[in-house]
Amino acid sequence: MSKKCIIVGASHAAAQLATSLRQEGWEGDILMIGDEPYLPYHRPPLSKTFLAGDKTAEELAIRPADFYVKKNIGLLQGRVSKINKDQQIVTLSDGQEMSYDKLALCMGSRVRKIALPGSDLAGVHYLRDIADVEGIKSGVKKDNNAVIIGGGYIGLEAAASLRKQGMNVVVLEAAERILQRVTAPELSGFYTRIHSEEGVSLHTGISVLSIDGGTHAEKVRCAKGIEFTADLVIIGVGILPNVELAEEAGIKVDNGIVVDEYCCTNDPNIFAAGDCANHFNKIYNRRIRLESVPNANDQGKSAAASICGNSKEYKSLPWFWSDQYDLKLQIAGLSQGYDQVVIRGDKLAGRSFAAFYLKEGQLIAADCVNRPQEFMLSKKIITEKIDVSADRLADESIAVKEML
Ligand SMILES: Cc1cc2nc3c(=O)[nH]c(=O)nc-3n(C[C@H](O)[C@H](O)[C@H](O)COP(=O)(O)OP(=O)(O)OC[C@H]3O[C@@H](n4cnc5c(N)ncnc54)[C@H](O)[C@@H]3O)c2cc1C
Repeated sequence: MSKKCIIVGASHAAAQLATSLRQEGWEGDILMIGDEPYLPYHRPPLSKTFLAGDKTAEELAIRPADFYVKKNIGLLQGRVSKINKDQQIVTLSDGQEMSYDKLALCMGSRVRKIALPGSDLAGVHYLRDIADVEGIKSGVKKDNNAVIIGGGYIGLEAAASLRKQGMNVVVLEAAERILQRVTAPELSGFYTRIHSEEGVSLHTGISVLSIDGGTHAEKVRCAKGIEFTADLVIIGVGILPNVELAEEAGIKVDNGIVVDEYCCTNDPNIFAAGDCANHFNKIYNRRIRLESVPNANDQGKSAAASICGNSKEYKSLPWFWSDQYDLKLQIAGLSQGYDQVVIRGDKLAGRSFAAFYLKEGQLIAADCVNRPQEFMLSKKIITEKIDVSADRLADESIAVKEML
């Protein structure tokens, strides 16, 4: 009898997992169940080229529809509302029940919503999926005012895309610096300068009290009597992993679905990958949950191998990227816990530099802005734990190729 693998979710992790299942030799049925009405699509362009109008929704597809047909991968639009792990059955929100031999949870994450008066007014948006961005795009108008609540990567990428289209943009960040949750002060300082030079009005340490208007947003009201006129508001204050379905089914959850280095949960037939999974990272010697496409893809590959009984350990170095204006930021590793920063290039002028983060003399992470060579080198140094002194990293007279 043919075996069946059901994948909950149909985005980066799911699409990779399904594809890798075939590569790993899975001959049974594969069904991806996703609740968005699209083929699996690339999410990163949503705040970048798609919002800027440089890409259409069709161009976002990870693979064309006929790819899934050729690989005999089923795609069903629906929402899984219950898992019965003892009977190996999932229930969809329309009551349909489906049995599985193996189940992969690729449910990703959702935006963190804030209980802000006025956040339900027309013209106020979150930014996670194609529908959100279609809504935002309908409010983009040259010389109109956009207020972005949240100075993380998504808020800043949206700011860059809206500036490109001639909007007046204000970014409001509650913390003392932009990107505070995700990066070191070096990078926050750099992007503060860049956005200011590009004409974005950045405000940190500010608390938003409400969004005011009749039926449509008109202004954002902050503490100390500060107000900003707003024709368009985007809220980008982080995400939450989609773990409730797993938790209710008795699968272990702790800031994400807990998986081992092979993406297996505490149930031998259930696996998890992507934003919703929390894994033990051997490079950093701790559990982490990552929110990035490379992680979703690599965990998807590892989970597929495990499902097929071939073990492929997930041990990739975390890496990320962000595109704002003409700047490509590539981040290798995680900088938390660093005790020394060295800069290669000039972060106070120009648009290209690298910040290297060291702990006890060893490179643990690097932020590389328009510096692809330094990024590639950093990945190698961190992964292989190669000794390179701080002085050498900072010295621009030593070519990157010669650094090792
Ligand atoms: C605007 C934006 C920009 C980004 N930019 C970058 C970037 O530059 N670089 C980078 O590395 N990462 C970026 N990311 C993050 C990246 O997109 C995510 O890490 C990635 O999408 C995670 O993939 P995933 O498959 O784990 O989850 P998701 O992409 O979140 O997909 C999960 C899917 O499962 C569906 N789902 C959830 N529960 C159920 C259920 N019960 N039944 C059916 N379906 C369900 C969800 O609706 C969703 O479609 C960005 C994200 C956003 C939103």
